[in-house]
Amino acid sequence: MISANSKGGSVSSNGRISVSGSSPRSAAISAITGYEPPSSRLNFRETPTQELFNANVFSKSAMKERLPKSVFKSLANTIDTGATLDPSIADVVAAAMKDWAIEKGATHYAHVFFPLTGATAEKHDSLLSPDGDGAAIAEFSGNQLIQGEPDGSSFPTGGIRQTFEARGYTIWDVTSPAYILENPNGTTLCIPTAFVSWTGEALDKKTPVLRSMQALNTQAQRILALFGHTDGALVSSTAGPEQEYFLIDQNFFYARPDLINAGRTLFGAAPPKGQEFDDHYFGAIPDRVLACMLEVEREAFKLGIPVKTRHNEVAPGQYEIAPLFEFANVATDHQQLLMTTMRKVAEKYGMVCLTHEKPFAGVNGSGKHVNFSMGSSSQGNLLDPGESPHENAQFLCFCAAVIRAVHKFQGLLRSVVASAGNDHRLGANEAPPAILSIFLGDQLTDVFNQIKAGTAESSLPAGSMTVGVDVLPPLPKHAGDRNRTSPFAFTGNRFEFRAVGANQSIAGPLVAMNTIVAESLDYCATKLEEATGGDSSKLNPALQSLLSEIMNEAGSIIFNGDGYSDEWHAEAEKRGLLNLKTTADALPALEEPAVKDLFSKYNVLSERELESRYETYSEQYCMTINVEASLTSEIGRTMIYPAAVRYIGELASAKNAVEAAGGSLGNSVLTTIASKVDELASALDALDAVKDEEGGDSAATQIRYACDTVIPAMNAVREVADVLEGLVADDLWPLPTYQEMLFIK
Ligand code: ADP
Ligand code: MG
Repeated sequence: MISANSKGGSVSSNGRISVSGSSPRSAAISAITGYEPPSSRLNFRETPTQELFNANVFSKSAMKERLPKSVFKSLANTIDTGATLDPSIADVVAAAMKDWAIEKGATHYAHVFFPLTGATAEKHDSLLSPDGDGAAIAEFSGNQLIQGEPDGSSFPTGGIRQTFEARGYTIWDVTSPAYILENPNGTTLCIPTAFVSWTGEALDKKTPVLRSMQALNTQAQRILALFGHTDGALVSSTAGPEQEYFLIDQNFFYARPDLINAGRTLFGAAPPKGQEFDDHYFGAIPDRVLACMLEVEREAFKLGIPVKTRHNEVAPGQYEIAPLFEFANVATDHQQLLMTTMRKVAEKYGMVCLTHEKPFAGVNGSGKHVNFSMGSSSQGNLLDPGESPHENAQFLCFCAAVIRAVHKFQGLLRSVVASAGNDHRLGANEAPPAILSIFLGDQLTDVFNQIKAGTAESSLPAGSMTVGVDVLPPLPKHAGDRNRTSPFAFTGNRFEFRAVGANQSIAGPLVAMNTIVAESLDYCATKLEEATGGDSSKLNPALQSLLSEIMNEAGSIIFNGDGYSDEWHAEAEKRGLLNLKTTADALPALEEPAVKDLFSKYNVLSERELESRYETYSEQYCMTINVEASLTSEIGRTMIYPAAVRYIGELASAKNAVEAAGGSLGNSVLTTIASKVDELASALDALDAVKDEEGGDSAATQIRYACDTVIPAMNAVREVADVLEGLVADDLWPLPTYQEMLFIK
């Protein structure tokens, strides 16, 4: 953080600019040099974090305290075992929830839902109703808790609601706890809900998550039964999402129309010093940033989000935050809430939190690594191999099911991480390639190779590692090293799906993972049930032959080497693995018959619901590219072109002045810039000629058009504009530079 001085204009307490500098850029820079972060807002001695956790959540313990025993038991049973919710308890729960919320200062309640835009939507209603005698009473009925009708007809539905009445309902999701959203002027009781059409079709991201968890549980129970575990304890998928993000000063943000409207920079030459030194990675966290992180964590804690890890990431200005894993449905809601919290808190510190996958070209992008596993209260983590995985038949079965699933549904997994933003990241040599493969590590690869060849007799020992310094203790060594280049890596007791984009809801990836694993478990259970015919002594040989068959069919998905290398791309092609490079290549996977069958067979998405997602995501992709193209044109024409032309004017008059004085000033700079400006003008004309076309009537041709025609035209404008950035006088350049945005903290 640059120390405060009085060089610039005046800055309001929230760090916003209130000066009229010569350009937004110079105003931004002067505002930052005068910025002082809010002083010591938090006092963890006065309020220890233990007390904050869940403070704003109508948690199970809050419910236990406030609900009649029988009502609590019924509710807890639904949450813990997935049993059907008894609607007759709704009135009692609603009353207790209302009292709790009013004690917390709530004036309104909101059904919170998650439309296909990937954002979070809320509709607020007052808790107060007139009583008819001139007074008002706080009211909140079971009906209001269970069901809402937010209209919300403007959310994308991919055709579902056009064909029917435009009614949409929100339905209370009892598995995700209600919470209080604070604002300096009042608080709101927020109730997580599913959002469906009046035909019951899912209009949101939550409903399929819940359905897919149910499918996974059903199939996992069959496998567990084969291993003699018939207690029926709910098998739930678990998710731990690591979120990468950038923080930049708000003043720069407001001086960049591209950041404001597209979330990423559409122009910007590479800075002389980028991330080559890796000096930012895990480095000391700058003060203002740390202050912001502390407040984010505190707010997250109050909302029951178990934030655990924070650190600097590879790029300058880039950071990561990771909560502990939770049940997939809760983790999904919490992830959305965390992104909202990060954005809100950053503003208080005069910064903007960027979650776009690639805000700065040439600088590392941001992903969201979704750690995925499944487990139950009686079996624990089903992907925990233990000390000797070769003897852990149940683990091997679950693990092989995942391997088979990823191999069989590569295209689907690729499509659920496809977005305009993530296209800049996947395959760009700092994020996993667009080719799906699994990293298993040495120990497990060895075990599965043994199984493939006949039978697994041993597990490579994990051993211990000595560092060669006496004062450092020997450490137990993990049985497998890490692999940062793998899109789907086994990391000890879970898989880490690393291709997910930073700005994405994790719902889509989780729905896909839950459902493809359910399908694989179904496949395995069916085979094993047939082979054993109820005779458990036949289980081991049956499993051996099943696993060896799976490894022969799906083993090509396993790759422990460098996913960034050219050799891998060639090798993957030989193995017949898919390499879907862009969203336009990947989204059509949602249309494949095998994918349609998958989702309808397990009642996760009907054919129409799936179709609606394909339509919606294609439309979103096209709209994003369209907005970016318009912005590129606008910024190119109204900011960059004028700056360059002004500079030509300055150069020309300087030349005249020198010549008038009898000297000479060469022509080379002037002519270089003039020819680049000409190139810029033609590139802008070329972009304008293509950017407003739709590229046909179908989603498939429209995404292709955006990808193949509009993006290259945009890139051509940027290329010449970035060259001009290196030629035009710095004081005339209108946009904050990469250097400024990334290094001034
Ligand atoms: P790394 O950076 O080494 O990948 P982190 O500690 O940043 O590790 O994140 C690991 C994530 O994996 C955490 O969110 C953690 O809670 C999560 N995780 C651990 N066990 C499981 C599990 N069984 N299921 C899902 N996620 C898990
Ligand atoms: Mg990780």
